[in-house]
Amino acid sequence: MKLYIVTTSWDDGHKLDLKLAKLLEKYNIKGTFYVSPFYLENKLTREEIKELSEYHEIGAHTLTHVDLTSIPIEKAEKEIKGSKIYLEKLLGAKISMFCYPKGKYDQRIKEIVKKNGFLGARTCNGGNFEFPKDPYEWRITLHASNGSPLMTLKIYIKTRISIKAFMDWELRAKLLFDQFINKGGVYHLWGHSWEIERNNEWQKLERVLQYISNRPYVKYKTNGEIVKLLKS
Ligand SMILES: [Zn+2]
Repeated sequence: MKLYIVTTSWDDGHKLDLKLAKLLEKYNIKGTFYVSPFYLENKLTREEIKELSEYHEIGAHTLTHVDLTSIPIEKAEKEIKGSKIYLEKLLGAKISMFCYPKGKYDQRIKEIVKKNGFLGARTCNGGNFEFPKDPYEWRITLHASNGSPLMTLKIYIKTRISIKAFMDWELRAKLLFDQFINKGGVYHLWGHSWEIERNNEWQKLERVLQYISNRPYVKYKTNGEIVKLLKS
């Protein structure tokens, strides 16, 4: 039997994550919010992170959003471990997912993430519908933005969606969703609330959420729920 699972993830821990969460809830879609607690100026407060965790999942994204491959390994470990401990203390719950800032990781970083008790880690590698073969290198389907032309090109090469979708992530999101409905697997939409705001794309995001939501045979899960499902 084919499985159809939709998941979304939203990075950095900006205040507007609360607005984004409400939009997801309107369409019965779950999100994993990867929070860097000491990064953004307009960051979520501790109370807001708690509020977000009531329906959605909170994942770790380092303490300060540093490129982990560019700093000494002991510092990288502090960033990874520190963000897990900080969020676990705050929420009184286990944090099982990690996300590499700027999508940067290598084998050593992966090992540290694994060693510190995370069940998986998300990357920014697009164009994928597969269940993660390596949960510490979990790929996404697409970015809710036109901001990464190289990723768009990779998605195009992998999926051969219409060239019309090249400059329009709304169309891209819908066409990739149609492919997902044909083949099953995981449809993973990723983005940033601050980026949606900056690009003035809240309505676009809502149209995409409307398109991908409330399909009878599709399950809507957090990143962590999928990794746990795979382990069981
Ligand atoms: Zn980030």
